[in-house]
Amino acid sequence: MSITIEQVSKNYGDQVALSNVSFSLKQGEIVGFLGPNGAGKSTLMKIICCYLSQDSGNIEVCDLNTKTQDLLVKSKIGYLPEDNPLYLDMYIKEYLSFVGGLYRVINLKKRIEEIIDQTGLDSEQHKKIGELSKGFKQRVGLAAALIHNPKILILDEPTTGLDPNQLVGIRNLIKEVGKEKTVLLSTHIMQEVDQMCNRVIIIKQGEIVDDNLIDNLKQNNIDLEEHFRKLTC
Ligand code: ADP
Repeated sequence: MSITIEQVSKNYGDQVALSNVSFSLKQGEIVGFLGPNGAGKSTLMKIICCYLSQDSGNIEVCDLNTKTQDLLVKSKIGYLPEDNPLYLDMYIKEYLSFVGGLYRVINLKKRIEEIIDQTGLDSEQHKKIGELSKGFKQRVGLAAALIHNPKILILDEPTTGLDPNQLVGIRNLIKEVGKEKTVLLSTHIMQEVDQMCNRVIIIKQGEIVDDNLIDNLKQNNIDLEEHFRKLTC
């Protein structure tokens, strides 16, 4: 398994964020993680990426424990947080060089060229990040998440706020890079899950309420949007 989550719970003071969450992701799966605002998606993603710690339960990423082997776990994961924090005053290559340095990427100069090409940043590469459109900023965030060639991608609402053309571009890019990685992505757009994912996991108030193959829903003529509404209202 790429990721195994067992009985994970997390509270912020009195606020329950996750309650006994369990699921596993197999290598090569692209999984849509759906839930209303405040359902616990970002919290779980941060815990998988070792930026937060669970109160109880266990998570393994590529057979490594997130609590005791966090540095190794981080080397296996590319994480694009919801707010895509970037250094706006840095040039694209400068930023990728900084992030690649943190991961001790070998042949970093060559890797930066590859990743700029793969993420479609060629035409913008002379610019500072602050000068880029939202769509290109997302590409920089993805490039940074991919720089160390991780086996797993965790993408927290990667398409929020993009215009329709940018949306198509980023979706295609995720589909392309997802061919050889395990991807967990959160989104509010059902079409996106339909188009990009082979599986959907739905969370409500910190609890998993559905875990289904997209093909399974389609075979049973279940409309994902309606299914989601029924389960989360
Ligand atoms: P989602 O990503 O699905 O919108 P979150 O994981 O951000 O959900 O939030 C889950 C719950 O935890 C919400 O009730 C939210 O208000 C709460 N929460 C998230 N982060 C914090 C925090 N740093 N401090 C206190 N409560 C938080």
